[in-house]
Amino acid sequence: MDNQPIKIGLPRAMLYYRYRVLWRTFFAELDMETVVSAPTDREILEQGTALAIDEACLSLKIYLGHAAALMGKCDYILAPRVSSLGRHRSFCTRFESMPDLVRNVFRASGQNLLTYEVDEGMQRKDEESAFLEMGRSLGCPAKAVKRAYRLAKKADAAAWKERVQKHEQRYKTEGMKVLIAAHSYVAEDPYMGRPVTDYLKQAGVIPVRADIVDRDAALKHSRELSPTCKWEISREILGGIVQHKDDVNGIILLSAFPCGPDAMVNELITRRVEGVPILNLVLDSQSGTAGVETRLESFIDIIRFKEGTL
Ligand code: SF4
Repeated sequence: MDNQPIKIGLPRAMLYYRYRVLWRTFFAELDMETVVSAPTDREILEQGTALAIDEACLSLKIYLGHAAALMGKCDYILAPRVSSLGRHRSFCTRFESMPDLVRNVFRASGQNLLTYEVDEGMQRKDEESAFLEMGRSLGCPAKAVKRAYRLAKKADAAAWKERVQKHEQRYKTEGMKVLIAAHSYVAEDPYMGRPVTDYLKQAGVIPVRADIVDRDAALKHSRELSPTCKWEISREILGGIVQHKDDVNGIILLSAFPCGPDAMVNELITRRVEGVPILNLVLDSQSGTAGVETRLESFIDIIRFKEGTL
């Protein structure tokens, strides 16, 4: 039993979609196992909805459903606190409160949580020192943790570069393209963004993503739309829109209800991005695919009508 590797549970939601390579490589380099919850299904959604307060956004409800699915199946569940990567580089408050929230919701479960804290704004605590602390809390020697972190960062950067390069090819493909502006965990979730991209594909439209971009370049470009937006992920999306709005036939602003950052940022996009049709689609746990499909169908018709191909 003692020789069993430590098992770290990763809820397949929210920051998992951003940090999956980093996390999985880091723990693998420390000879630990990672267990990822299964893709979102109705049961996960219902369980998360039952655990969350009504005001929680759909992404958070889904996250709690994934955390619940991992209970008792791993030694620790990873629930990091990621607050800020620096000035004008904040994360939504849901990410700041994540470990407290998970600890509180599952307080009776006896499940161990694993966390790390990144706050390069107020506390000047960077990701590397946060990972070092987390590794030490798992009983690993500092040298091994440092090495694992460096290798994980390298793997993460290489995987992202390859993904961005591959994604850029889509803009060169012939045909109608629609840019999806959404947080990755919304765009890729089987109960949120996936039905939207599936619908677009079967309608002969090429979906492209505003968040799959060179992140440093996107942060710089984001200032053209908003010099004051403070959320890191929103700024990446804004930058992606600036870079690609002229390469696409339409933009879909895809949000999870109720999302504070998106409510502000999407309003800004609607006012400042001109010359391209924009559809604002807000998903909640009640939206059936039928309503979404009708809106997508008319949006595609509007684009075709505008371009004289209807
Ligand atoms: S940014 Fe929006 S969707 Fe994401 S966690 Fe915050 S409120 Fe939820």
